[in-house]
Amino acid sequence: MAIRVYEYSKKSGVPSKNIITLLEENGFIVPNHMTHLSDEMIDFLNKQNNSKDAAIKNLGNKKNTRNSINFKKNNSDKEIETPLKKELFHTSMTVAQFCDTTDVSANDLIVYLLKKGIVAPKNYVLSEKLVEDLAHHFNIQFSEKIVAQQSEAERSISAVKGTEKRAPIVVIVGHVDHGKTTLLDYIRKTRVAEKEKGGITQHLGAYEVLVDKDPIVFLDTPGHEAFSLIRVRGLKVADIAILVVAADDGVMPQTVESIKRIKAAGVTVIVALNKIDKATSAQIEATKRSLAQYDLLPEDWGGQTVVVPISAKLGTGVADLLEVIHLQSQIMDLFTNTKAQAKGFVLESKIEKGRGLVATLITHQGTLKIGDYFICDLVQGRVASLTNSQGIQVKQVLPAMPVAITGFDMQPQVGALLEVVSAEEYKLHKNKNVERVSSMATMHTTDEAVTIVIRSDNMSSKEAILGEIERLSKKSFKPLHVVSAGIGMITESDVELAHETHAIIYGFNIKIDKQAAREAQKMGVAIKVHDIIYKLLEDLELLAEQGKPVKKVLKKMGEAVVLKVFDIKGVGVVAGAQVKSGRFVKEGGKVLIYRGKYKAGEGSLKSLQRDKKTVKEVQAGFECAFMVDNFSDWIVDDRVECFIEVPE
Ligand code: GDP
Repeated sequence: MAIRVYEYSKKSGVPSKNIITLLEENGFIVPNHMTHLSDEMIDFLNKQNNSKDAAIKNLGNKKNTRNSINFKKNNSDKEIETPLKKELFHTSMTVAQFCDTTDVSANDLIVYLLKKGIVAPKNYVLSEKLVEDLAHHFNIQFSEKIVAQQSEAERSISAVKGTEKRAPIVVIVGHVDHGKTTLLDYIRKTRVAEKEKGGITQHLGAYEVLVDKDPIVFLDTPGHEAFSLIRVRGLKVADIAILVVAADDGVMPQTVESIKRIKAAGVTVIVALNKIDKATSAQIEATKRSLAQYDLLPEDWGGQTVVVPISAKLGTGVADLLEVIHLQSQIMDLFTNTKAQAKGFVLESKIEKGRGLVATLITHQGTLKIGDYFICDLVQGRVASLTNSQGIQVKQVLPAMPVAITGFDMQPQVGALLEVVSAEEYKLHKNKNVERVSSMATMHTTDEAVTIVIRSDNMSSKEAILGEIERLSKKSFKPLHVVSAGIGMITESDVELAHETHAIIYGFNIKIDKQAAREAQKMGVAIKVHDIIYKLLEDLELLAEQGKPVKKVLKKMGEAVVLKVFDIKGVGVVAGAQVKSGRFVKEGGKVLIYRGKYKAGEGSLKSLQRDKKTVKEVQAGFECAFMVDNFSDWIVDDRVECFIEVPE
């Protein structure tokens, strides 16, 4: 029987990657460690191995093989090629560049910027932050503020230069019923590291297996969860994807979906051809044929895809599969830096009795410690506790070690990227969240009643919340009207209902369906979820307060005189003026324009700049430039009075 690279490696004690390198450098074609070695190759290797200055041995001294080895056929090359389009949103760029790279018309963009008070000609340079905001506003893919941050963070994860080896992270995907759970269970039961055996008290969404003393981390989220993880960002979490295909069923829709996702992210794929105990050889061949149609040409057919026949139920071939994963990870050079800023992904998130919000996490870099501040997609927090798979509280955790963490301010979503940040960044993120939610909430109080959708974890909490709303409604200026109250996750239909009825959704101790969260963001529906009842009640109290109408009066803030008028093509007419007294205020600033004794017009300040920079206000004595809604007929010497609305 022909011998494979990894088998030769075992026999000779030379790492597989060195064997592959040496053969490739000498003109042989060796797609991977599962490749069968021809007699000629074996002769060559034997000769090398016997020679004193064996090149094969020297290769082992090279630290970073990627620089010196042509890994053309290896998927790891793809990992370096991060899609460029994503990166565009992480840098500052001009208005014209932004329009070029998106479908947003320059007009739309400029008008939007004007509304924000920014006078921006085409070559105006948009800050990084503004690019994120714009992308968010125009609903451009990859541009969600958080996603953008995430991509950046993800890029830096892949770019992190380290010298410390880390364990490969493996995800198992494939069609439903093809045996993913059975495989994960079999590996866990038979191979979980000795020290942990019987000691796993924590389900962490991942577990560690030792192969030849090296750890491999399996993401233990079978079925839909794993699939959705990979669908969203699982590809960045995992280094290797095991595509489970039942040989008796063949390539099915979710197999195809998995293949697409795996390919899109350049994750290395290994096929586990499952259920060989019950599949006929004709079925096995047919399945391989279908795999070939999806560009996964099995290696024994001359392709590069490693296909390992297994029976997850009986355990046949599982050891081979682990061996292949181990070898694959060895040639992938998975290095990390434990001193870098810790970054990881949420594998699961739930509310536990007595512990509150708990998320399980796998980090790729850095050392996560108790007390670390972090942001994680839309939420943030500070690490309060870290619990390993044996249920032991630890003070810190290294890369590729699954851990349960508490300290989240709100529930994070599965697949979200967690990044350790400074206390300042944490505070900023938190405040922004508060602002975001409350500004959305204010929009809902302008109708006759304040409408609310309630979702809570059980009957009694629902009743408690409804009781409180009834009580508050009596003292609230506008009645609080509950349009729907239910138990369980916030779904798309809740969001649709809230949208139609202009309601705010309040959740207690429940999750938000991911799609629903996206819809809510798109439609501008506010969702507020709490896991502490008094916080929710406080929130409702605030809402009742907001219902009160506040009588407002105009207060004069300052006066300016127009010195120059600029007609900027594509932007509009800008008044250049000097503030003579008081100050000009952008936020809520209204103006009255006088020409001699007569009023020439009025409007709201659309933009306010000083020294070409957008500012919030300009004090007396300084020059400034501004634009006013519905007024562009400026002439020099116009007198402009600035007002803002204040409560009476
Ligand atoms: P999943 O949906 O992909 O997680 O699939 P499961 O692991 O739940 O497996 C679906 C069914 O296939 C179960 O009834 C398993 O017992 C069965 N199954 C899984 N692997 C094998 C196998 O290797 N051989 C046989 N005969 N049955 C298997």
